[in-house]
This record gives sequence, C-alpha cells and structure tokens, in this order.
Amino acid sequence: MILIRTYRYRLLALLSVILYTGLGFSFQSGKCKDEVRPFREYKTKYVIVLIIDGPRYSETFGDSSCQYIPNLANVLAPQGVLIKDFKNNGTTTTNSGHTAICTGRYQSVKNDGSELPKFPSMFQYYLHDKNLDSTHAWVIASKGKLNILANTKNSEWKGKNVPSQFCGTNGAGEGYTDDDYTWRDAQLILKKYHPELVLINLLEVDVNGHQNEWEKYLQAIKNTDETALELWNLIQNDPIYKDQTTLIITNDHGRHTEGHKNGFINHGDNCEGCRTMYFVGIGPDFKKNQVINGGFDQLDISATIAEMLHFDMPTTRGQIIELIFN
Ligand SMILES: [Zn+2]
Ligand SMILES: [Zn+2]
Repeated sequence: MILIRTYRYRLLALLSVILYTGLGFSFQSGKCKDEVRPFREYKTKYVIVLIIDGPRYSETFGDSSCQYIPNLANVLAPQGVLIKDFKNNGTTTTNSGHTAICTGRYQSVKNDGSELPKFPSMFQYYLHDKNLDSTHAWVIASKGKLNILANTKNSEWKGKNVPSQFCGTNGAGEGYTDDDYTWRDAQLILKKYHPELVLINLLEVDVNGHQNEWEKYLQAIKNTDETALELWNLIQNDPIYKDQTTLIITNDHGRHTEGHKNGFINHGDNCEGCRTMYFVGIGPDFKKNQVINGGFDQLDISATIAEMLHFDMPTTRGQIIELIFN
C-alpha cells in the first residue's frame, strides 16, 4: 500500500513538473508576451504621420541652433517627444524608407514605383481589423510613386483593405507635384473625411537636394517646418481631431554626410548621414517636453501606432516605443 502511494505521488510530482515546465516555456514565446501586456486605453483615435522627405540630420536636430526648423524645435517638439538619432536601418531610398515606416519591415523596394511592398501595411491591417472602408485611411504624397504604399504584393492581402491614395500629379499616382498642392489637397481630405490613419509625404527638401541647390534645399527645410506647424494647428483647431490625434513627424532617409561622396546632393547608402533622422511625436498619450537619445528606428512607428489604435500587425518587426507614453 505504501509503495503504491509513493508511486502515485511520484507520478503526480512528475506530471506537475512537466506541466510547470510547459507553461514556463509557452510564457516565453511571442504570443504569451503579448497576452501579458496589459490592455491600455488611449485618448488617441487618429494618427497622422508627416514624412518630410530626405533632410539631412545636420540641417535639422543635428544642428544645435536648429536654425532651419524653428517650429519643430521650439514649438512642436516641446509639446511632445523628440527622438534624436532616429534610424533608417534598411535601404535609404524614398520608397524603401516609406515602406519600412508603413509595413514595419525593412525591404529593398525598387525606387521607381514599380514594386509593391512584400508585407501588408498598417493601413490594410487597420481597415481590416476595424472593418472600415477605404476613406478611413489615406496615403497623400507629393511623389506619385508612393502610391505603392496603398497596396502589397502579398497574395493574401493584395488589393484587400487598401487605403485611399492621392499621390503625385492630380493624385493620379504619377509624377511629382509641388508640396503647396499636396498640402492644399491634404487639408481638403482631412476636413472632408477625418480619416483615422493618414500618411502625408512632402518632397521639396529632397528634390532641391538632388538638384544641388543648397539655398533652396535649406529654404525647403524651412517651408516644410512651417507646414508641420500648420498641420498641428489644423488638428488642434478641428473639433473632431482636437485632443484625440497623434501627429508624428519624421523622415524616410537622410543624405550623405558632408565630405562623403557628393554630400547633401544624394543619399542611398549606409553612411551615418543617410541613416540618421529625427522623430517628433505629439499627442494626448505622449509625454511632453521629452527628449530620447536614440535606440529606435523606422520599424517602431507602425508598431507604436498599432498599439495606440488597437489593431493587430502580426508581420511587423518593430517594437512599441514604450518610453514615449505618459
Ligand atoms: Zn526620399
Ligand atoms: Zn550616404
């Protein structure tokens, strides 16, 4: 009798060890990590991402005087979080940089607009999860070739839950259009549809850099700095957007470091100048007047947006930027 009891006890003990080890193992898997994460309510119901195309960090926050970005540095960043030394760790071209921001994956995408991203974007995941039509998410860009951000070549997702797009000349997905027109059209779209998830691209910094026009390049940094402030003012003066919108201002890539290749004229390689950018985030859930020195990159943008708007983005490789939340 005693022998049998001991045997049963041992069996029980063995079973508990197996069960315990099994649980321990599953807790370390990715899935359980998400489940452990507490659900948090956010005030943010709308997110607008403004991409100022290709300023070099040495002419933005890398210049301690911030002389070309007075609004970003003195008006906008103090109302939110500035991440210095924010990185593009993938291909430092326009379509690849924007793709990394929207899909949470680094991928070398052809830069002429002929190649769609491999992975679905935050727009598709958002519209799918919330069961919303295409007017709820928009890609608005001065560069027509950025209409690739509205779709994917992933066979399960291609053509599904695609956002609205207004890119390039007359929004037709071709050519380049002046930022003045893009900004005018963006304002019309924001006021008419009040979309919850929007990306806006402005091109003039990049175009003037490529044309080797130093003064115009600097002026373009000032112009887009002005537009960033106008966008924040539009948000805070709009009864729907006010106090429930997060604005993120960042770049798709930088430009070559001074003295490397042809300097500010071009970009696209691994130099520090091409990789380094800024991230400014303002909204009801973000800290105020907070500066973070590095540690984050483009993939983290969509992961953080998915957290705030409560949708799943299973293919992202980004991390939620926990440090920026209140
Ligand atoms: Zn670019
Ligand atoms: Zn470079």
